Amino acid sequence: MRLKGKTAIITGASRGIGRGIAEVFADEGADVVVNYVASPDKAEAVAKEIRAKGRKAITAKADVANRKEVEAMMDKAWKELGPIDILINNAGIETIVPFLDLTDDQWTRLVDVNLRGPWLCSQAFCKRVIADKRKGSIVHIGSIQAAKVLPGRTHYAPTKLGLEALTRNMSAEMTPQGIRVNCVHPGLIDTDMTEWVMKSPDILPIVLAQISLGRAGVPREIGTVTAFFASDEASYLTGQSIHVDGGWQGK
Ligand code: NAP
Repeated sequence: MRLKGKTAIITGASRGIGRGIAEVFADEGADVVVNYVASPDKAEAVAKEIRAKGRKAITAKADVANRKEVEAMMDKAWKELGPIDILINNAGIETIVPFLDLTDDQWTRLVDVNLRGPWLCSQAFCKRVIADKRKGSIVHIGSIQAAKVLPGRTHYAPTKLGLEALTRNMSAEMTPQGIRVNCVHPGLIDTDMTEWVMKSPDILPIVLAQISLGRAGVPREIGTVTAFFASDEASYLTGQSIHVDGGWQGK
């Protein structure tokens, strides 16, 4: 029960890694705001599962790249479950487009969701935590692609490396105000986002051969590390990024 008495907003918690983080957080005693953008039924199913564990949970629709929607989500969270202690910036999208084919719209949307979204949610969260005169914790969900080259990711990879810089710089400004900021970089995790890899008889063995544990991770394996970073057990840990990738070798 490392998160007993805490309340967390988890962006993109309707599916995949966000859902795994929400499940672990509930197991660790946290109440949860389940953010989603397009899957209300899936978000409600996650909230129902959390309530079945004896915790409080609400759903909150918001596109993390839209300031008005983010502010409305924060207001709803504070009104219905507040004060909030933890923000997990997990929502993200990935497309695979060769560099020379990438359009302005593809670049802008992906950078908006993956980098501007965490910045926006963090700013809205920090202002409220500071106004409450309370302490807080933020964990950004990056990607091992912050440190790797994979084809068609000239827009995606910079957003994830950008989250590492956002983590360091936000930590420098926010930790003195009582809010720790850290980052978890997942490797290959079995979710909707990676279904095409998991189902590819050609690509999957090549990827798994590079991973020391020889398998993909599951969302809860990101949840447990994220819960530690967010918890008071990590009270002297801030501005850090960790790769949770089963030992993915090479660059
Ligand atoms: P996923 O299965 O595709 O789920 C994405 C989640 O993000 C969904 O809950 C989705 O909500 C939400 N979302 C997408 N765009 C949003 C927006 N604009 N506003 C709010 N929510 C939004 O992805 P995943 O694999 O769980 O990935 C989660 C995070 O981990 C992402 O940041 C991804 O880049 C990162 N990551 C994943 C892997 C991996 O191997 N899976 C590896 C490294 C990093 P709806 O259901 O409402 O659409």
